[in-house]
Amino acid sequence: MDNKFRSGFIAVVGRANVGKSTIINRLTGEKISIISNKPQTTRNRILAIRTDETSQMIFVDTPGVHNARNKLGEFMNSEARGAVGDADAALLMVSALDQPGKFEESLIEQFRGIPAVLGINKIDLLKEKEKLLPLIGAYSALYPFTAIIPISALKKDGTQAIFDELYKLLPEGPMFYPEDQITDQPEKQIAAEIIREKVLHLFDKEVPHGTAVFIDVYKDEPKLLTIKATIYCEKPSHKSMLIGAGGSALKRVGTRARIDIEKITGKKVYLELFVKPKSDWRNKKSILDELGYKKV
Ligand code: GDP
Ligand code: MG
Repeated sequence: MDNKFRSGFIAVVGRANVGKSTIINRLTGEKISIISNKPQTTRNRILAIRTDETSQMIFVDTPGVHNARNKLGEFMNSEARGAVGDADAALLMVSALDQPGKFEESLIEQFRGIPAVLGINKIDLLKEKEKLLPLIGAYSALYPFTAIIPISALKKDGTQAIFDELYKLLPEGPMFYPEDQITDQPEKQIAAEIIREKVLHLFDKEVPHGTAVFIDVYKDEPKLLTIKATIYCEKPSHKSMLIGAGGSALKRVGTRARIDIEKITGKKVYLELFVKPKSDWRNKKSILDELGYKKV
């Protein structure tokens, strides 16, 4: 190996729920992208940056592309498509439990020759290991992947191999971001995402998908971080569910979010949450803009 510094953008693409955000958090050692078992958890294109003595890898976490049913969905699709076009390399993530389909083929079409690694994730869930070989065969027929690696991002099995393969694909280049920068997202945005993650974890069905979090106050003092945030939801009935009996549900969201934000910022956090219904906000451009779901 030479001793030239390498750097580049790696687009991480794949179906919703295959573990894109999980592998990125593993590779960077930071919790930047929120994770849940609900599809379409990631809404924006998020950069996660990993810098060491020999390289800077800039991972682009993308929303899972799906059939857009509202303006928010259309925005998520354009975010995902744009990511591949600008990248030096791609990491296609798939689940060991799925067969390749039209969706993967349409992602691969966007690679247009850039080098790509395939991560076959969730092997911890694959009971019949003999199914792995035919799966590898099916994918290698679709694209000349530089490596196909079965992994379990959850169990940290194979993540080093993914790193090593991606490293080989990085061009020689400068540091694009200061070495201590871990994301392009402002801290305030990460806090909003963590609150949204807790809503995704604690609620089911249509409630979490119709929520957005807006930070009203973010006061960063040396010893205390004060955050006041509003959770927007689609309907008054969702508001009652989000608040819960005597405020119990909202309190759980708040406590869990506060603990994570304290971990990330290393500060004591005071967190106050409000809930407001705003019907059909996912189709209202002015609200999407205000929430940051817009091209910058
Ligand atoms: P994304 O939508 O592709 O970003 O997927 P996420 O990273 O949000 O993960 C979706 C769900 O799959 C979460 O519940 C993860 O904990 C879970 N998950 C991710 N990787 C693995 C894995 O290797 N094994 C198992 N069993 N679950 C995983
Ligand atoms: Mg994600």
